[in-house]
Amino acid sequence: MSAEQPLRFELNALRETGTLHFAGTVEPEPYKEVMGPAAELVSPIDVKLDLTMRGDEVDCVGDVNGKWALECCRCLERPEQPFSAKVDATFPAAGFIDAREEVRQAIALAMPYRFFCKPDCKGLCLTCKKNLNLGECNHA
Ligand SMILES: [Zn+2]
Ligand SMILES: [Zn+2]
Repeated sequence: MSAEQPLRFELNALRETGTLHFAGTVEPEPYKEVMGPAAELVSPIDVKLDLTMRGDEVDCVGDVNGKWALECCRCLERPEQPFSAKVDATFPAAGFIDAREEVRQAIALAMPYRFFCKPDCKGLCLTCKKNLNLGECNHA
């Protein structure tokens, strides 16, 4: 485990104990690419992982928690809100375990396909683009 690759685990340590618990905070930068243009990770990410040796495989389960800003598909505002994602993966027990891709996928899966800042978001006026949650405009 080095500072640059905090979610990479050597198998030697795991072989001795059979299980390994990781809890730490990682910088969001390596995970931002999964977000697409309408979403943004806005805080470091808390990662908790339990690795368990099972024959020639390693089970990796855990939680990923952070904060993101998702663009409302009606009004285009980006309110920040906490998110929580689950990791549940199996790795071959060879070399090392690199859980970064699993964390990336967990975040991608947790992202809603369409996001609304609130269920009754009024959206933007088609004519003047005013955010109608903030008040009416003169267009019907
Ligand atoms: Zn909205
Ligand atoms: Zn208007």
